[in-house]
Amino acid sequence: MKKANLIMLGAPGSGKGTRASAICEVLGIIQVSTGDLFRSNLKAGTPLGKEAESYMNKGELVPDGVTAAMVKERLLQPDAKGGFVLDGFPRTVGQAKLLEEMLAQMGERICAVLYLDVPESELVKRISGRLVCRGCQASFHKDYNPPKVAGVCDKCGGELYTRDDDKPETVKNRLKVFEQNTLPLVDYYRQKGLIVELPPELSPKGALGDMRELCSKWGLVRE
Ligand code: AMP
Repeated sequence: MKKANLIMLGAPGSGKGTRASAICEVLGIIQVSTGDLFRSNLKAGTPLGKEAESYMNKGELVPDGVTAAMVKERLLQPDAKGGFVLDGFPRTVGQAKLLEEMLAQMGERICAVLYLDVPESELVKRISGRLVCRGCQASFHKDYNPPKVAGVCDKCGGELYTRDDDKPETVKNRLKVFEQNTLPLVDYYRQKGLIVELPPELSPKGALGDMRELCSKWGLVRE
């Protein structure tokens, strides 16, 4: 298998998480979602969670150093050796540089940056109906991707909820932060020849079918 160290890049609500988890299921590699890591630290009441909380509530970015240290700790765990999909990281050029440094120390590198370019009007629609599982973090949408039983996760039976930062006043700021801080990464990675644009909509095959097709096109298979 060609080793897959991938970045999923896109605005909040662009469908990064859904595609990242489908690729991980296809290839048996790990998904590293910084948003999920912060939310589980918050839930567990760790010092990191407390530090992140005030930024998250305002839709601001947690400082680069704190975020990169959390990612490094995760990537040093043995299960990251087989490959990973970074979902929601990096979000600034500073984070991208910190990532390069840490990967170089590990003898690793990024092989592609999968970019989802979704218009802002669509992002707002997707975020405003989003429901997330408290248990496994799977994401649903009340109209576009409703769970089989209202309020219950199809995957693990956990309770579905609306994230605090998916409320309209915070969403506006998150989209502004994306445009100012994260969008420059598209050019940054384009210059390195790493950007692969993904269709912003899933085909009727769904996330798993589409990502399976993408991986086989690249010759990426489960070990
Ligand atoms: P997400 O679930 O990816 O939308 O992230 C939720 C929130 O967690 C963001 O609005 C930020 O406050 C914080 N966060 C997640 N990833 C990062 C990152 N790479 N850098 C800084 N803050 C982040």
